[in-house]
Amino acid sequence: MPALEKILVDLIRLDTVNPPGNEILVARYLKGICDAAGIENEIVEAAPGRGNFLARLGRGGPRRLLYLAHSDVVPVGEGWACDPFGGEQHGSFIYGRGTRDCKGLLAAQLHALLRLAREKIPLGGSLIFVATADEERGGKYGIRHLLKHCRDKVQADFAVNEGGEEPVILRGRTFFFFQVGEKGTAACRLLARGVACHGSMPTLGDNAVTKMAAALHALASYRAEIKLVPEVQFLLQELARALGLELTVTAENTDLLLEKLVLEDRGFAESLRAMTRMTVSPNVVQGGSKRNVVPDLCRAEVDIRILPGQDETYVRRELSRYLSREIELEIPNYHAPTFSSAASPYYRLLVEITALVAGREVSSLPQISPGATDSRYLREAGIPSYGMGHTVPGFDPEGRSTLHGRNERIDIPSLQLKAEFLYRLARAYLS
Ligand SMILES: [Zn+2]
Repeated sequence: MPALEKILVDLIRLDTVNPPGNEILVARYLKGICDAAGIENEIVEAAPGRGNFLARLGRGGPRRLLYLAHSDVVPVGEGWACDPFGGEQHGSFIYGRGTRDCKGLLAAQLHALLRLAREKIPLGGSLIFVATADEERGGKYGIRHLLKHCRDKVQADFAVNEGGEEPVILRGRTFFFFQVGEKGTAACRLLARGVACHGSMPTLGDNAVTKMAAALHALASYRAEIKLVPEVQFLLQELARALGLELTVTAENTDLLLEKLVLEDRGFAESLRAMTRMTVSPNVVQGGSKRNVVPDLCRAEVDIRILPGQDETYVRRELSRYLSREIELEIPNYHAPTFSSAASPYYRLLVEITALVAGREVSSLPQISPGATDSRYLREAGIPSYGMGHTVPGFDPEGRSTLHGRNERIDIPSLQLKAEFLYRLARAYLS
């Protein structure tokens, strides 16, 4: 059985930057290891080179647990101090594209599977291990393909995937997180129309750009309604307690609490803010063609993220409070939020195993992600999905910022913690 670090280094050296992906490299590598260990497995190629890998251990009983991680990575960009595909190890760290997202988790899941296979413990169910292609570009050749063409092979009682926040230490208390939901996306397009004329006599026309400027100015004053999903209310309540605040967290005092958390850890606090409301961010404006022509059209693209319980109708209603009737609103791209309850035996088991591997003194809290992973498709297919981000608290506080950035790295103790957690979870659930 290959060592955990070696698996990760091997995976880093397989270039699966998406596009083009070429995840078949990882799929074949995983197949070689699972074949050698006598674990039933197969490669499902959604398109040439777009390999997904599926393995299954144990057929003893009805329980099914799914470990899912993606094998593609984002482009590397400039400015690396080492080879992004070298898998270099320096001290306690392994460097390379994908160490944190998501080949570290992939290596840990495979390692847990191999360990269980080696121990030959009779399982009261199956551990299904899936390495998906194409997560970074929407999953068409990955999870969506699998759910469409071989749904029964990934069907499980629940899934463990990426997506959880990494642990946070707040005033000496340590918090681990499980992602129970992902915000939805409503990509909005605003259109302002006017009447073109010569720029030397602007009053003859009707300027679409100034109309749009007024609309965006109004949107900048948008104050989102605060909505506390019960899981997030619980999360904030626990954080308030850690800060020594004697209050019951409500929509009314949420911002007060967030302002205090900003002083402790700004990145964390802003991600909490995004968990409590719809966000509206106008990110692209295009209008006009020439300096001496009054523009008759201006377009703005607005990135809107919505919480579980909010939908397209909600988005339209909210924006209409700020935009004049003259502004046309289209939603060319919409993806609903997804959610898996924390009030489930699966979630309770995740919390229990975390305490086993990280210590009784740590707390596990549920969380919603501002962005999305393959979990959204699992949840839509009826498979509860939980995102983990387990690392050794405080070992490498800067590590998180290397995700999707340069010099991406993971520390080996965190890699081991992931693998130990996954091993114990599968053992506890399946035997
Ligand atoms: Zn990822």
